[in-house]
Amino acid sequence: MNKVYLDHAATTPLDPRVFEVMLPFLKEDFGNASSVHALGRKARHAVEACREKVAGYLGAEPGEIVFTSGGTEADNLALKGVLLERGGHLITSAAEHKAVLTPAQAWMQRGGKATILRPATTGAITPQQLEAALTEDTSLVSLMHANNELGSLTPIPAISEVCRAHDVLLHCDAVQTAGLFRLNVQVLGVDLLTLSGHKFYGPKGAGVLYVRGGVTLSPLVEGGGQERGRRGGTENVAAIVGLTTAFELAMEEANERVLHLTRLRDRLCRLLREALGDKYVSNTPLDGDAAPHILNLSFLPVDGEPLDGEMLLLNLDLEGVMVSAGSACTSGTLEPSHVLLAIGRDRAVAAATLRFSFGKDNTEADVDYTAGKLEKVLRRMGASISP
Ligand code: PLP
Repeated sequence: MNKVYLDHAATTPLDPRVFEVMLPFLKEDFGNASSVHALGRKARHAVEACREKVAGYLGAEPGEIVFTSGGTEADNLALKGVLLERGGHLITSAAEHKAVLTPAQAWMQRGGKATILRPATTGAITPQQLEAALTEDTSLVSLMHANNELGSLTPIPAISEVCRAHDVLLHCDAVQTAGLFRLNVQVLGVDLLTLSGHKFYGPKGAGVLYVRGGVTLSPLVEGGGQERGRRGGTENVAAIVGLTTAFELAMEEANERVLHLTRLRDRLCRLLREALGDKYVSNTPLDGDAAPHILNLSFLPVDGEPLDGEMLLLNLDLEGVMVSAGSACTSGTLEPSHVLLAIGRDRAVAAATLRFSFGKDNTEADVDYTAGKLEKVLRRMGASISP
């Protein structure tokens, strides 16, 4: 049976080229980057070379790069680190990843002030919305670049202008665009930026928080003063080397990857339109304001009966097609996605939603196979689609 993996927004496979570069640091070059002997110096040299490379790609200084255990930690460090240091009012969106929303809610539970904006139906936040929510006291805005469920893009440079005009720090979770778009912190105008290695064919458990020079953070993890006191703990050298190599490869191949992903997404849209007519709606804005790798579709009720998205997902899985219903971090519970509810979808439509997310190694044949199987599964589930 064919196996088609269309869940790259959840995670990507480790690129074999990345694995090769990581291997020596798991074997003979195992030194602790804080040790002064030869093996330690080798590890330190590797970590600092990675820091320089990542900084170079982001238009940042090496000292502004903090290596973390992933996107979740980087998001937490941005929010808690800034809020514990400065206090004040936080603004974020109801469509953010839980790695931002949960610390935001924790801040409110502690008595901190926060505004959680309701996004437009695309999932994006506009500069006007942000402007209206600012208070005298606002210290931090946290808005994601591409939404991980919908793919929709928030216009970060325009958001940054509003933040700059009011002297407010801007954090952006760019986990879903890092490795596809050329992210430059000066062009984006961000003060903090989150990346996660396993979304661009690097290892899991490796992330980056860019912290603009002069922005001080209260660390989440205190210890031996690593990462300039912003994140204690012995550096995970192999993971840092893996993340950096994966990022380099992604930047070299970014143009072709984006073209390829856009073609695959458009092909699936076209095939499904031909096969299913108007039996579904796209939650992904397909007019260009979206990342190229995500397609989020809600299947409409059949004869008034809502389609069961979980069932749809499991049936597709039996056919070898792996997709996601909502974000991977919330699957396992039958609650409809908080993002779909935030953009105004009702619970029944939200529960009948699939997210297809494409990767660099998917082929047109994968897309054709998926479209065929989806049509078959929908028919089996009783959806009355045109013959
Ligand atoms: N932010 C976004 C937008 C994500 O999609 C994810 C992963 O699902 C994360 C943060 C969390 O990153 P990590 O899995 O590296 O902790």
